[in-house]
Formats: sequence, C-alpha cells, structure tokens
Amino acid sequence: MRATAGFVEVYGEKPAGVWAAPGRVNLIGEHTDYNDGFVLPFALPRRTVVAAAPDPGRRWTVWSEQAGERVSFGRADAAEPGRVTGWAAYVAGVVWALREADLDVPVARLAIASDVPLGAGLSSSAALEAAVQAALLDLGDLDVPVAQRPRLAQQAENGYVGAPTGIMDQSAVIRCRAGQALFLDCRSLAVEHVPFDLDAAGLAILVIDSRAPHRHVTGEYAARRAACEYAAAALGVPALRDVTIDDLDAALARLDDPVVRRRVRHVVTENHRVCQTVDLLRAGRLAEIGPLLTASHASMRDDFEITVPEVDTAVEAALAAGAYGARMTGGGFGGCVLALVDAAAADTVASAVARAYAERGFATPECFTALPGPGVERLG
Ligand code: ADP
Ligand code: MG
Repeated sequence: MRATAGFVEVYGEKPAGVWAAPGRVNLIGEHTDYNDGFVLPFALPRRTVVAAAPDPGRRWTVWSEQAGERVSFGRADAAEPGRVTGWAAYVAGVVWALREADLDVPVARLAIASDVPLGAGLSSSAALEAAVQAALLDLGDLDVPVAQRPRLAQQAENGYVGAPTGIMDQSAVIRCRAGQALFLDCRSLAVEHVPFDLDAAGLAILVIDSRAPHRHVTGEYAARRAACEYAAAALGVPALRDVTIDDLDAALARLDDPVVRRRVRHVVTENHRVCQTVDLLRAGRLAEIGPLLTASHASMRDDFEITVPEVDTAVEAALAAGAYGARMTGGGFGGCVLALVDAAAADTVASAVARAYAERGFATPECFTALPGPGVERLG
C-alpha cells in the first residue's frame, strides 16, 4: 500500500492505522443539492488512503504522494482559515472543523496516496477530507456519529478551503455502501441505501473523464445558483425543491425570463428523474434507468446549459455504441461522463468514445468501469 510505504519512508516508523475514502460519481441529480433537492451518488472503487500515527509534538505533518511534498502546520494555523493554503488546506480544514466542534483533535503525522483523479469531478477533495477525518477521529478516540461526519467534512471545504460546495460529496464518500447507491435528501439529510448491484445484473458504469479544460466553472456555478435562488424567491418557495413536477407548468408561467424558466425546468425535472430512478432501482430494474440518465443529460445541455462539446460528444458516442443511457456527472463545463453499459460491452463503448474524440481532435479521454464500492473505512 503506497500510503503505508510512504509513511514509513517519510517518518521512519510504522503508522498506527490506515484509512481509506472513495471518490464518487453522482448517478443522477445534478445541481439539485443546493436547491434542497435529491441526489443519488455511489462510491467508486478508486480511493484515497491515509496512513497516520499520533505525533508527540505540536504540529500536524502531512505528506501526499500526489502533491509530492510534505507540509506541517500548528494549532494557530489550524485555528484560522487562510493560514494553510494549497492542497494541505483540505487537511488543516478538517482539523479546524473538528476543533470548531469542540473536539480534542490529536496532533498527527499523515501520509496520503490516492488513485482518485484530482480535479476530474470525482471528488478527490471529499475523499481526502473523509479519510483524514476518519484517521483523526479514530486516533483521538473521538466518538462522532456517522450522520454528523459529512457536515464536518463539508465545513472544512466551505469554511477553511473556501470552496462553496454542497453536502453531496462528503455524504457520498462517508455514507455510501458497496453494491448500493445513496439516495440523499439534501434538505433533511435523510439517506436511503438503494440496491444498485450492477455486477449481479451483468452491467457496469463506464466513467469517461472528458478531460475538457475547465472553463469559467466558478463563475458559471455561481450564476446557476443565483438564478435558482432568484426563481425560488419569485415563486415564493424556500427552494426549488418545493416546486413539484405537477406544479411545473404553473410555476413556469409565473416567470418572465426565459433563461430562468429553463433553469427551473432543469431542477424540477431533475429532482423528478432522481425519484423515478430510485423507484426503478428499488424494483431491481437497473437497465431501465438508462433513458432517465440520457434525459438528465439533455436537460443539462439544453435547459441548464452546463455541458461542453467534449461531454456531449462522449454521451452521443456512448449511446450510439449501445449504452443504455449516458450523462455528464458533476457540476459541468467538463468533468466526467457516465454510461450505463453491459459489462461485456464496456471496452467497445470506450473505444467508440475514443474514436469520436479523435475525429474531433479532442484529447484522448480516460475511461474506467466502476461498481459501487464502500464508503470511508479503516483498513488496518
Ligand atoms: P475534485 O474534488 O473533483 O477532484 P476539487 O477541485 O474539488 O476537485 O479538489 C481537488 C483538490 O483537492 C486538488 O487540487 C488538491 O488540492 C486536493 N487533493 C485531493 N486529493 C489529493 C491528494 N491525494 N493529495 C493532495 N491533494 C489532494
Ligand atoms: Mg471536490
């Protein structure tokens, strides 16, 4: 295990324990989280592993194989957002959030290695936060119920790193279970573990990293949020989650701006698609969710306007090659596409996507198949 080997090399001793947290993909439910709506992520078999041990000194030290460096920070740094910057801010942020919750966080040495691609929309940030959080809680013998852990990890990212993300990523990497998807109500934070045994059904999710250069992501994300908040206020509801599919036409008729109308239509229909997907999964009708995935993509492309040519190309090529359904997953403007395929057809679909990319002169996409894996856990 690279994290353990890294720990031994960097610190000259064995770690006290090893923890792992997965990346995630969102099966369906995009830009619904900050509208108090529904999402349905599952955990990837790719993980971030943290080897750690208590440190008798006064400073936390963290080494990451991906960052290729070691960073240390003290109590004062971990007490004030902004004092640790760069990748180590995610680690300092976890310490900060736990201490803000009045927990006596142990000083520790950590070594991190991951095969979750960084910045590809598979939530390497939440994987890092969750693995570090689990390590510190266990090393400190701190008893924090699992239901409270995602919020504390999210606070690290919102309050210390300064990234205004929703609760989905941290909920997914902490609460997901193998063979299941996580149906999360982003308002109540209620979760249901929905059966999603792709393997038994002879299916797989092909994850295609579009490798599209991220374009204006932060500004576009903020603009989408603002449009949704504006629409909710105009409609007199706390959040767009409160507009149901049956209310949609009446709600649209009350909005003047055609752009805002499209944004609302995406959020309302997307919440509905999540619920329809969950119904099908509960009934074990896995392959039948395909059209809902494809409809979600069309809604993101036409109504929410967050796709780019690379992801549209990947979706079209995957469908043409026989995928049951395909959609961009993640915030948009790049990131990953997922396609529901027969397990035996995964390579054929991946090749078809690569060919379509080559024809358009796009950078070669990276593809891998994913079955739903476990959430954060202690490995040793
Ligand atoms: P995503 O979560 O989609 O991968 P983000 O931009 O939210 O993308 O988070 C990526 C950032 O998280 C990286 O730029 C880095 O700062 C940090 N990070 C994630 N995993 C690691 C790791 N294994 N080592 C160092 N930093 C990491
Ligand atoms: Mg992230």
